[in-house]
Amino acid sequence: MKRAYKLRAYPTRPQEGRAVRLLADHCDLYNAALAERREAWRMRKVRVSYGDQSAQLKEIRAADPDGQGRHSFTAQQQTLRRLNATFGAFYNGVRHAKGKQRRVGYPRFKPYQRYDQVLFVAGDGANWAPADGGRWAHATVQAVGRVKVNQHRPVPGRVKTLQVKREHRRWYVIVVTETEIVALPPTGRSVGVDVGVARFLTSSDGEVIANPQFLDTARERIVDLQRRKARSRPGSGNRRRLRRALANECRKVRNRRRDFHHKTARALVDTYDTLALEKLRVSAMTAGASGTVDHPGRNVGAKAGLNRSILDAGWSQFTSILVAKAESAGRRVVLVYPARTSINCHACGARCARPRQDIVVCPVHGELDADLNGARNIAARAGLGSGQAPAA
Ligand SMILES: [Zn+2]
Repeated sequence: MKRAYKLRAYPTRPQEGRAVRLLADHCDLYNAALAERREAWRMRKVRVSYGDQSAQLKEIRAADPDGQGRHSFTAQQQTLRRLNATFGAFYNGVRHAKGKQRRVGYPRFKPYQRYDQVLFVAGDGANWAPADGGRWAHATVQAVGRVKVNQHRPVPGRVKTLQVKREHRRWYVIVVTETEIVALPPTGRSVGVDVGVARFLTSSDGEVIANPQFLDTARERIVDLQRRKARSRPGSGNRRRLRRALANECRKVRNRRRDFHHKTARALVDTYDTLALEKLRVSAMTAGASGTVDHPGRNVGAKAGLNRSILDAGWSQFTSILVAKAESAGRRVVLVYPARTSINCHACGARCARPRQDIVVCPVHGELDADLNGARNIAARAGLGSGQAPAA
C-alpha cells in the first residue's frame, strides 16, 4: 500500500539557492531531452525512447561535471521518465482524440519558473531521517544538503521516493512510503470509540482508558519553566538555558504522548476487526469554546482549561496513528459524522438531559455514562449494531 505525505520543508538561504539550481538543472535536462526528440522526429522521423536518452546520461554528466554531473543519476532518469510519460500521454491522446474536443498537445518546453519538482528514489540521491517523536525531520538531498522538514504527522512504512517541490515561495518534500498489509487474524469483534476530555478514550464495550498521568506533572514543570523564563533578563545566558530546557521538556511530552498513542492504537487494532470513531474536528471544538472577543464563549475560564486538555489529548495525532495501523493490518475504520452522538440515548434515541459532564439522563433508560453512551452511538452509526460486544 503506497501513501504520499506532503510536508513543508524549510531550507536555509544557501540551501534554497542550491535547490533553485537543482530545479533549473533538471529543467535544462528536460528541455534538452525534449529538443532531441523533436529534432529526431523532424529530421529523420525517428522516435527517441526513454532508453535511448537514459543511455546518454553518463556522457552528459561527464561533459558537465559542475552542472549535470553534480546531480543524482537516478533522479535524472526520473526526469527523463517524466518526459517520456508526457510523450506517452501525447501519443495516446492523439490516438484517442477522434471525435473528441480535447486533445493532448505536443509536449512543450518548460520555463524555469514552471519547472517545480524533482523526484528522487529514496537512498539514492536523497535520504529521509524521520522526526522520531519530535517535530523536525530531515531530508538530505544531493547537491542541496540536509534540509529541515516539518513532520506534522507520522510517516509510517518504508520510504520509496522523495520529491522536492516548490510552490510559489514555499518548499515541500513529498514522501511516498509503502506499507505491507500484514492482515491480522479476524477476531469477529467490532467497537465504537469515543474520545473524551475527562478520559482519553471510552469504548462501546465499556473499556475506559484514562488520560496519561505524565501530562499533569509535565505541565507543572513547563509552567514553572515558562514563569522563570519570563522573569529572566532578555539576552542573558540564563534565559537561553531556560529556553532550551523548556524546548526539551515539550519535546519529551510529545514523545511520551506519541508513544502512548501508538500503544493504545496497537491494542485496539489487535482486538477489533472494525473500529468506528468520530470524525473529530479539534480546531472547531477549541475555537468554539474560547469564543471571540465580541461573543466570548460561556464560562471562558473553564473552557480554556478544557481546550488545553483537548490539545493535550492530541486527538488528531491518535486518529491518524490508529487509521494507519488499522490499514496496514487489514482492519476497517469507519469515521462517523459526530453530531449529537453524546446527547441522544444509544438504546432508544431519545434526547437526554446532561446534568453533569460525565453523565446523561435518558427519560426512558435513566442515568447513563456519557462517554459510554457516546461510544455506543458511534458504533450504531457505523452500522455495528448497538456496539455492545456479542456474548462470548
Ligand atoms: Zn433511552
